[in-house]
This record gives sequence, structure tokens and C-alpha cells, in this order.
Amino acid sequence: MKKFTIYLAGDGLPHMKKQDIFLIFIILVIAACAYCAHYYIAPPEGNYVEVKVDGVIEGTYSLSEDQEIVINGGTNVLKIEDGKAKMIEADCPDQLCVHQKEISAAHESIICLPNKVVVQTVTGNESGIDAMTN
Ligand SMILES: [Zn+2]
Repeated sequence: MKKFTIYLAGDGLPHMKKQDIFLIFIILVIAACAYCAHYYIAPPEGNYVEVKVDGVIEGTYSLSEDQEIVINGGTNVLKIEDGKAKMIEADCPDQLCVHQKEISAAHESIICLPNKVVVQTVTGNESGIDAMTN
């Protein structure tokens, strides 16, 4: 330990150029930005709901955009608000889907058995969202 300290004080620092310190600073700033960008920007854009009717994907919708989605030609209506999705209308006899909890996290789902409608949350990484226009 002592040897290291002596080396730094007596030999290391005087040989360190200003450009080197600047370069290290830049790398740190870039790393910090990349971390922040990933942490703050990625999650809101990463969550989507996938709407399936009879096993076929009818559409994928961003949870960050408030909207109402008419499913299966009007048998079900899904509402997205404040990053959460909720079934607000259905013509099924049991109305179970309408009473299901709103979903927001990945791998949660709302299922309407009589109409064969499945609404599932997915993250951007695991579905082919890239093909969708933003
Ligand atoms: Zn239903």
C-alpha cells in the first residue's frame, strides 16, 4: 500500500497529462448518460399490450399512450390510461373481463373467455414491436 501511495504522489500524477484526465472525464460522462438513458427512457417505452383474438394477434399498443381500443369488431373495448390497461366494455354474458384488475406490468393479462380475447402486457424487447410505426 505504501509503495503505491509513493508511486502516485511522486511519479504518477506529474506524468498524467491533462488530455488523459479530460478523456477519462468524457468516458465517465458518456457512461453516466448511457446509464441514465437506459434507466429513465427505456421503461416507459418498453411496455406494450398485445391483443389476441382466438390466438391471433390483432394489435400491439403502447401503454404510454392513452387510447381506447376496439377489439374483435366491437365485442370488447380496452382502455389505456396512465400506463395501465383495463377492459371497459364487453358483450360477454359473464362480464368477468370487465371486472378484472387493470394491468401494467409485464406478463399480466386480461382474458375474456367467451369472446376468446386475451390482452397481455409485454415489454418492447420480447415482441416484434420494431415493425410497428411509432
Ligand atoms: Zn368478457
